[in-house]
Amino acid sequence: MEAIRKTILKCLDDFSFDDNKLISELDCIIEKEGDKACQVIFSVLIHLDLSSDKAESYWKQIVSHRDDMGESLGRSVNLRTAICDYFCTINKFMINPTIIEIRALEDALYSLSYDSLTGLYSRRAFDEIFLRETERANRYGKELSVLFFDIDDFKMTNDTFGHLAGDDALEHVASIVLEGVRAIDIASRYGGEEIVVILPETGKTEAFLVGERIRENVEDLKLGYKEEIISLTISGGLATLPTDATDTRGLIRCSDIAVYRAKEAGKNNIVIFSDYSENKRSYVRVDFAADICVKEAYSGEKIGTLESKSKDLGMGGLLFECDHPIDIDTKVQIQIPTGIANKPLMVFGIVVRVEKIGTNQFDIGISFIKADNAARNELSECIKKCLTEKK
Ligand code: GH3
Ligand code: MG
Ligand code: MG
Repeated sequence: MEAIRKTILKCLDDFSFDDNKLISELDCIIEKEGDKACQVIFSVLIHLDLSSDKAESYWKQIVSHRDDMGESLGRSVNLRTAICDYFCTINKFMINPTIIEIRALEDALYSLSYDSLTGLYSRRAFDEIFLRETERANRYGKELSVLFFDIDDFKMTNDTFGHLAGDDALEHVASIVLEGVRAIDIASRYGGEEIVVILPETGKTEAFLVGERIRENVEDLKLGYKEEIISLTISGGLATLPTDATDTRGLIRCSDIAVYRAKEAGKNNIVIFSDYSENKRSYVRVDFAADICVKEAYSGEKIGTLESKSKDLGMGGLLFECDHPIDIDTKVQIQIPTGIANKPLMVFGIVVRVEKIGTNQFDIGISFIKADNAARNELSECIKKCLTEKK
């Protein structure tokens, strides 16, 4: 429909001073595209949503009405005049039509659908498309992911460099988001410095990788401003239909909660929503079998040094097997050979889960305690490597 719409708009432009040519060109489009072209003509010219039968019948009546008017007046009558006269006096569908130049109307419609600063979809268009996409995903049993990005400490960027520089930075972040998503994804400026992307037919892992790539590209962006450089980071929250929610409100709520958790965890990261009450995990976990070294964090006494094999790894924690239980809440120091840096990554964590899985066999779940940026980057690199290798 969009292609037909563009062709019709072009015809209206090209033949604005030659009605007979315009009508014959529109007739050609109708012949080529069928009745739906008539529907688009009425949608473009008078914003009427007609059935294809009605649209075809009205089109014929209007063309013949124009001829009749021309005969009565003894001169050629403009197609728009005939349309207006037809709908006001014959069909009486319209009571108070307004006259507006089509380009002015198209510009106004564009600004309703797109954000003028970033070129992303406006919130208004987003709400409509989001509803349609969630309905479609539910109907066809497909997954759909929502990535909710919020620029970190943007108020400070504005305060330091000024609002115009802030606008410029926001525009650049929007471009990075657009470059990082597929043509079928819908990126919108949801609020001030919040960008939400809908990824149809996309599960958590794939959406997480998209989010991570965008996060990294924003981190790498160095914007020159006068003598200084503006650096930015973003935090993101990810929610997926149908696991987390099946309607638009639920998906926004979950992805928003995940952004909040990302901010709490130190910003510049992407958190996958999880419902803690259902004990789901908050991060993507990857199979990760590596030789790790676990020590009791401060005294080094309680569990001594434990050489073990990890089972899975996420941004938020790690699971490993052990031949004895470890007290819940024990603070530990773990060395993980991520394969990213030369030496193993050292992080602190807390034992959050102990599960007996056999004789002298226990699964120990560790939740990382606020890791610094470098550690988080290394973890995310390692997880991405595992995910990519798995694909
Ligand atoms: P956080 O890391 O917690 O998100 O901190 P923050 O400073 O980004 O968050 P907060 O919500 O306190 O502030 C958002 C700021 O974004 C405040 C507002 O001035 C700025 N902002 C929102 N829209 C625009 C815009 O269109 N242009 C500019 N330059 N700034 C904007
Ligand atoms: Mg915000
Ligand atoms: Mg912010």
